[in-house]
Parts: sequence; structure tokens; C-alpha cells
Amino acid sequence: MAGTASFVELEKHLNPAQVEAVVHGEGPQLVLAGAGSGKTRVITWRIAWLVQERGIDPGSIAAVTFTNKAAAEMRERVEELLGLYPLPTFVGTFHRWALVALRRYGERVGLRRDFAILDSDDQVSLVKEALAAEGLPEKSYPPRTMLAAISAAKNRLLDPGAYEAEADGFFARKVAAVYRRYQGLLQRASGIDFDDMIALAVRLLAEHDDVAERLRRRARWLLVDEFQDTNHAQLALIRQLAGEGGNLTAVGDEDQGIYRWRGAELENILRFEDSFPGATVRKLERNYRSTQTILDASGGLIAHNQGRRGKHLWTDRGAGAPVEVYKASDEVDEARWIVNTLQGLRREGDYKLADMAVLVRTNAQTRALEDEMLRQQVPYVLVGGTRFYQRAEIKDVVAYLRVLRNPRDEISLRRILNQPPRGIGRTTQEALFTEAAERSMPVWDLLVNDELAAFSPRAARALRAFAHLVTSLQEAADELPLPALLERLLESTGYRGLYNEDDPDDLARIENLREFLSAAQEFTEARSVNAADEDLLTAFLDHVSLVADLDTWESERGVSLMTLHSAKGLEFGAVVVGGLEEGLLPHFNAQGAREDVEEERRLLYVGMTRAEERLFLSTCRRRRIAGRYQDQLESSFLREIPPETLEVTTSPSLFTDPRADSVYSFFGKGTRGGGAGEGGAGATFGERVAASIEAEEAGGGAGLRRGGRVQHPTLGEGTLIAIEGDGDYAKYTVVFDRAGKRKLIARYASLDPV
Ligand code: ATP
Ligand code: MG
Repeated sequence: MAGTASFVELEKHLNPAQVEAVVHGEGPQLVLAGAGSGKTRVITWRIAWLVQERGIDPGSIAAVTFTNKAAAEMRERVEELLGLYPLPTFVGTFHRWALVALRRYGERVGLRRDFAILDSDDQVSLVKEALAAEGLPEKSYPPRTMLAAISAAKNRLLDPGAYEAEADGFFARKVAAVYRRYQGLLQRASGIDFDDMIALAVRLLAEHDDVAERLRRRARWLLVDEFQDTNHAQLALIRQLAGEGGNLTAVGDEDQGIYRWRGAELENILRFEDSFPGATVRKLERNYRSTQTILDASGGLIAHNQGRRGKHLWTDRGAGAPVEVYKASDEVDEARWIVNTLQGLRREGDYKLADMAVLVRTNAQTRALEDEMLRQQVPYVLVGGTRFYQRAEIKDVVAYLRVLRNPRDEISLRRILNQPPRGIGRTTQEALFTEAAERSMPVWDLLVNDELAAFSPRAARALRAFAHLVTSLQEAADELPLPALLERLLESTGYRGLYNEDDPDDLARIENLREFLSAAQEFTEARSVNAADEDLLTAFLDHVSLVADLDTWESERGVSLMTLHSAKGLEFGAVVVGGLEEGLLPHFNAQGAREDVEEERRLLYVGMTRAEERLFLSTCRRRRIAGRYQDQLESSFLREIPPETLEVTTSPSLFTDPRADSVYSFFGKGTRGGGAGEGGAGATFGERVAASIEAEEAGGGAGLRRGGRVQHPTLGEGTLIAIEGDGDYAKYTVVFDRAGKRKLIARYASLDPV
């Protein structure tokens, strides 16, 4: 290829500062630059340049990003630039990289070939077991707190011994004991958790030179996106792979660090040169994504953070529209405004649904939005795959697959022993596990080898039938392609007959299982292209573990609905950030410590900087939290955004309120642009609202009967198919014409007979 021709190409697509980063020679470099300045673009172009201009083997390049979605987009871009399909370069998350290494060389660090990967529910049950074994009550040692401490230890690469050595004080010593016990249980189940993946990969590299040599060969040119979110273990992995003077290109933005809660250390990027002495540090200042107004608004906000290097972003895209702020009366009003706004943008023909995103702080916030999207029939994609893979029936089937792979996976084994029910009750299960523990043999070995004399004949028969079922499926697993295996599994375990298509809940379960089958099908097709020799079942289970962790489950195109955490690196024509309220954003977890509030501010900054042209922010004066209305205070972050960039609208329903003046001034304190008056007399707003809601609700329950038609303010019309209990807390099951089946509590339902 003629060098000059391509160089001209580069200059056509990149600015001079970007070109320098792309054609950087050997040794480490850091590109430290603001949102939308083209950092990710530098990575994709550098990969292409290395291959095309320097003649580097694409198999010796590795690019690491934070989400599977970002990785998929990066891979596509590079494939396009190079015209190389499939690209032999590793492009994926840290966890995927580690997992690939561990599947290949895990035995060197004591793993069985078929090790299982635990999800967070599995982890909780192991920790509970560890607590019980240590005789510690869950009340004083909450499992989630224990897990967080264990995870933090692993992210700092401390094994139980090292953790114990530095454990200071009573509580820390208890944590150390639980940690040790937890690792023991993991080993017994031949499983690893997410944090182990990175830690074990680091050990693999540190302790086995021959393996390290082989792994480094595939990462001679290492590129890391979103470097600000790396934790200690990930930095260690990068250092092991690249070495001090290695060919590492890291890009990141200290203003977008949002994973402190997962152990990320901003220091990694702020003190990059300590880890990689002599590194070239570059800045990019031109933003290509957003209008000047969006840059000014988000820049003004983030300027309130102290722990940053500081930078200035500019664009030649022009000022653009002001950032619109909507002050809603409650989350239903907020959702209605958001969806109306998006509909308006679509009607004017400016944006397609896929160009728009609604970002929220917590998963729970999406419910009201989903209801409204359904009501207005706006297709949406809920990004955040946890939902799908956390569904009970999906977890059951995954547990079956895991047991087929590795029958010593006792967490999964416990899950499926009596699922679907087959007469292996709680007592039998407990007896089985106790028996196995006493004879210190794996439960599975007991099941297949033992006479089971310790059990009643009925229980023994049920257990034997289960063991037989699993062994015959294991045989099938060796012969059948994955989708056929799944079909067989659903058939022979009795899942097929378990559900009744006429029951809407069951129907949803059937649909989920079908979706899972399609996922297996898709996965099989994608794999058979280039990885014929791979163990497909293991690869599929690995895939499920990885996508279930944080990421995407995308089925159709529509408005993207997601949390701020999963939005990093993405961009959309129009973006709404909802719920700018104290307690939500900043989240109540963060109130107090400056570092925590700064992280929340960065989170909002990440959200705002996803927008290309239109940015909308909304806040509610009251919000239903766990079914009860709560008064909300406007987020202090809203006051930190330069007022000249904002255009504020207040919900009409707040003006029509008979005591709107006092209400408005109470909540309007510190607002701008909306003409809010000062004054603090409205403190009773909450009480009044609560009273009016109760009045509304008291009326709502009257005259409802089973089989009758009902009307809900947001879900529309439907048929009431069941009533359980009575009074305030009666449960109504309603099949709504558009929104499908919902269970509602009388007290909060606001249902009216039609
Ligand atoms: P973030 O910090 O949000 O991850 P980033 O710095 O990675 O942002 P990119 O996503 O790489 O930024 O780029 C932002 C947008 O600007 C993308 O649409 C990208 O294609 C475009 N862009 C970047 N550089 C240029 C350029 N030199 N010419 C034209 N468009 C560019
Ligand atoms: Mg990026």
C-alpha cells in the first residue's frame, strides 16, 4: 500500500492531534481528553493504521473496552476500515480477555477445565453459607456488605491470606474469615466469580513465564479505552501484558470516571506516568459530538469537581438549541412529557427512534417510562440485560446447562434438583447435601455412585431419576448442536408441559424461553463461522455470564432506555436525563463524602455529553418510591449548570394547584429561567399531596369487580381478572389492552370501573 496515499486519508478523517496519536510509534502513550473528542475514534484508526501502514499482524493487537456493546461497535468499525472479516484482533472487555486466557490455561492456576462462573445471586448464596459456617448472623454481617468487602479485596489483588494479614480490628477479621470460607466454597463448586477472572489472569501472567510469553504475543500492541475506569487489578493486568515501556495506547477522561463503586481508581489515569514512565501524554480539545450549548452546560457542571486535571473543549458545530429543563409534578407527568417530547422530535422528522435515548440513575425509574412508552405505542429498547438473564426460568435453564457442563457446580445443582418439581423436597435436599459433606464427597458423586440407602425409598427413587435425567442429557450434549440440546432439555425436564399458554404470566415465561432458544441459535450460527473446534456449550455459557453482568440485550430498534452507567461511550442525536433530584442524582448513597458526590456529578456529565444536538433534563416534585409518594428536592446539580444554557418549563399541573404559589416558591428556590419567586411557606405541600392522593385512592377501589372493565390513568383500559385479599392492600390482576398483565395494589392503583 502506498504510504502517502493512506496518510492523506488519515488527515481527511482525523485532526492533527488525533493523527499524532494514531501514528504514535513504540512505547506507552496516554490520550487524556474530554467527552466526544474522538478518543475511541483514535483507537479504531490506530488499529487500522498499525495493520495497513506498519504491516503489523492483526492477531498481535488487542483492544480492551468496558462494555460488550462498545466492543461490538469498535470491532465493526475496524472491520469496515480494513475490509477484514472476521477481524483476528482481540476486541472485548477485560473480563472477556481474562476468561479466554483462563479457559485455555486455567489449569495452571488451579482451575478445572469446566469451571463455572457465578452471578451475583450465586455469590450471595455462597456468602450466606460461609456466614452460617462461621456462625455469624446475617443481620450483623449483611451478605451484600461482605461481598462488597470481598470484591474490594479481590480488586486490590489480596487473597484471603494477604487480606487477613492486613485485617485490622474485629470486623475486618470476621470479613477475612468469611472471605477464606467463601473461596473454599467456590473451589468446592469449581467456580469463580467476576473479580476472580481478573485476579487469576494476573496470577497466570505473573507466575507462568511460558504462558505469559504466549499471551503477550497476542497483545504486542495493546489499546485500552475508558482507562479512567480501570481498577487496581485491571491496571496490574495491563502492566503485566504491556510491561513498563510497552506499546500501550490508553485513552480516557478523568471527568467520566463512574466506577469507583467497583473499585476503579482515578489515580490510574491521573498518575499514568508513574506506571508507565516516559509515556507521551496527549490532549484532544476539539469536540465533534455536541453543540456548543451542550458543551457549555456540561462543562459548567463538571467544573464544580476538584479532583481533575481540567480542560477546555470547543466545537465548530454552533450554539444549537438551549438545554430544556422540565419540572414535573410527579414521575407520571415526567414520563408523559419525556415521551411527548420524543414523539415531537420524531414527527418533525429530525430524529429516528434509534437516535434518541432516555437515561436514568436507577433501574427502578424505567418502569414509569416503560408504561408511558407502551401507552403511546413508542417502541423502545431497554438496555441492561440483567433483566432478561435474571428471570427465574432463564436462570433455571442456564443452571441445567451448567450442570451438564460441570455436575460439581453445586450452586446450579441445588437450583435444579427440584425444578420443575419432581418430588425432591427441601428435607431430602438438605439430607443430600449434609450426607455429601459428611462423607466429604461431591453431591453429584453421591447421586450417581451411592445406593442412597440413607433416604426413604421414594426419595431415593426421585434422586435416581434426576441423576439419570442429567446423565442422559450429558450424553445428548456431546452429540447434539446447542439449540437441539436445549429443545431436548426443555422436553425431558418437563418445562414444555409446565406452562399454560392461557395464563399471561406463563406466556411471558414461554416467550422468554423462546428468546433464549433464539439466543442459542444466534450464538451457534455466529460461532460456526470461525471457531469450529471450540466447545460450544462452554463458549455459550461464558457468553451468557458476560452479557448478563451489566450489558445489553438488544432485540429491536427503538428509543434506548438505560441507566447512566451503561451509556458510557455512546452518542445519540437527542438525549433526556430524567430524575434530577436529591437522593436520585446525586443518589442518596452518595450524600456526604465529597468524592462520592463528585462521582455522581461525573455520572450526570457522562449523561449530558452523550447528546449531539438536543439535550433535555427533568426533575419531579414528588415521586413514588416503593409505592409511596415522596416529596423530592431538585438536584443541586441543576443549579450548577450555567443558567444561560437552560430553558426551563414547569408542569402546568403545578400551576393549576389551588395553592400553587406557595408550592411553587418552596420548590422553585434557586431555579432559573422559569420566573420562580422566592419564599419558603410551602412546606406543607407534601402533606397536602399525600392527603389528596389518599382521597383519590379511597375512591379508586370502589365498584371494581372480577371480570369487569377498568381504567388506569397511564396504563389505559383493561380487564380485571383477579382480586386477592381486600381493603387497601388487595391485589388486582389486570390484563391491560396495551400494557399486558399487571398486578396492582388497591391502595396505589387508581383504578376506575369503566
Ligand atoms: P467519549 O469520551 O464520550 O467516549 P470519545 O472521545 O471517545 O467520546 P468518539 O466517540 O471517538 O469520542 O467521537 C465522538 C464523535 O465525533 C463520533 O461520532 C466520532 O465519529 C466523531 N469524530 C471524532 N473525531 C472526528 C474527526 N476528526 N472528524 C469527524 N468526526 C469525528
Ligand atoms: Mg469513547
